[in-house]
Amino acid sequence: MNYRIKEKSFLAFIAAKKLKAKQVAMVIGKTIHLHNTSEEEFLNNRRWFKHELAHIEQYKKYGLLKFLFLYLWYSIKYGYYNNPFEVEARKAEE
Ligand SMILES: [Zn+2]
Repeated sequence: MNYRIKEKSFLAFIAAKKLKAKQVAMVIGKTIHLHNTSEEEFLNNRRWFKHELAHIEQYKKYGLLKFLFLYLWYSIKYGYYNNPFEVEARKAEE
């Protein structure tokens, strides 16, 4: 799959603050933004890597703006954990 990795990402730093998470990986389009984890550590965590690849697939399926809009909408409606995009990505971890 076509993807890029950005370490020390400012966007991921902001997300980490918001989520109060120590380490963050977040996908925008085809780029996986990392906070407080190296590319190597991230790639060695296969479940985490597969989870983020699932989000890249979702971006591909819906397109950037539509995905971001739907993701936000589902987060408001269902919360982070039950957001259907997160449910699907968690299934892809196995
Ligand atoms: Zn996710």
